[in-house]
Amino acid sequence: MGKNGVIVVTGAGGFIGGHLVKHFLDQGRTVRTADIKPLDEWYQVHRGAQNHAGGVKGDCRDFRVCRAISTGASQIYQLAADMGGMGFIENNKALCMLSVLTNTHMILAAQEAGVDRFFYASSACVYNADKQKDPNITALKEIDAYPGLPEDGYGWEKLFSERMCRHFREDFGIKTRVARFHNVYGPNGTWEGGREKAPAAICRKVIAAVVSGQHDIEIWGDGTQTRSFMYIDDCVNGITKITQSDILEPINLGSSELVSINQLVDIAEKIAGIKLNRRYKLDAPRGVAGRNSDNTKIQEYLKWEPDTRLRDGMEKTYRWIFDEFTAKYNAKSAHKSSISTFTKGSHPIPGDGYNPESRFADTWTQGIPAGYAKAGVKTKAKPAAKAPKAKKAAARTTKSGKKVAKKAARRR
Ligand code: NAD
Repeated sequence: MGKNGVIVVTGAGGFIGGHLVKHFLDQGRTVRTADIKPLDEWYQVHRGAQNHAGGVKGDCRDFRVCRAISTGASQIYQLAADMGGMGFIENNKALCMLSVLTNTHMILAAQEAGVDRFFYASSACVYNADKQKDPNITALKEIDAYPGLPEDGYGWEKLFSERMCRHFREDFGIKTRVARFHNVYGPNGTWEGGREKAPAAICRKVIAAVVSGQHDIEIWGDGTQTRSFMYIDDCVNGITKITQSDILEPINLGSSELVSINQLVDIAEKIAGIKLNRRYKLDAPRGVAGRNSDNTKIQEYLKWEPDTRLRDGMEKTYRWIFDEFTAKYNAKSAHKSSISTFTKGSHPIPGDGYNPESRFADTWTQGIPAGYAKAGVKTKAKPAAKAPKAKKAAARTTKSGKKVAKKAARRR
């Protein structure tokens, strides 16, 4: 793989993307980035990169954006996805499935640009649920993804997109590489709002207890569910190794240090020097009973595997979240940090993904969410001015539920 040429990172305003961009810039590479979020919401903004931010320039559901950022690229790292922890993916399956647009359009643009490598960030959520029913799980091998019974919504989309990478490689010769990430954590990622994952959520809850003096903690499920967690530095290292390698099939990228959620809380408590009363919320989203990464294959191929000790990575993560938390909350307001915008289900961003001049406009008018269809009709007449109304239309669908959705379906 050439050392020159532009590297494209999508989802660069997110957790892993931000770290990956930093890694390439540190190596002196030219980096182009995209993210649908406005720049001031990115976790890390690297001024040395060519940044494409926001709903118009950075939305990779829009093929024109994908084409613009991919022109002249030698490597593409496709990380953009509408995703989050269990609370998000169990309540927002349609949104998770919609990331298929991002993946499809990015791989088409990669093909057109003739890139050397296309990296796709898959997930351990592709694994067959029947193999994850026991907390004392046998670690998951790559073959355990089939027969397909992945996590509903998010996992199905990831499995489909993995498959798309394979077929683009086989039929069109694009050098696709796919890693199945197992729970990545570290500084500069989501720690509140509803999309955060267990390590960040637990750090935040422990910090809230420290700051507020209310010494109790809510744990989702009974705390016996097991997982492995990979520190961000290992993830970035693994992504670059896998992309440069000849590994053609999707491969696990995760730590094999298995812990229960109760043990994860123990670690955070030790870092904080505190002991909390545990309340178990048994009806909360908790995901599969057990999941771990079998690293036999990555060891065979790369003679390497993620090896940062959970205790060490959690300490760095805790410190970063502590600073973020105390910059925003105090003893009185600490309880507000647990508010989630996503656990009751949310809606696609109407209008933003729709581009009336897109050559793929047809796919949008056939699309499922009523908000999109309405936004589409109105946007065609007066693109810019109608965007706020599109938001209202989606809100109406939310409040009045099925009735409005049916009407919209009839109109289509
Ligand atoms: P993240 O949510 O922090 O970052 C994803 C970014 O993608 C966000 O900033 C979001 O705004 C952006 N995005 C969403 N829709 C977009 C669109 N249409 N166009 C452009 N940008 C868009 O998540 P992350 O943890 O950094 O994850 C990165 C990738 O790794 C994702 O594909 C995710 O599914 C995968 N992954 C992550 C984990 C993990 O533990 N973090 C585990 C498995 C897989």
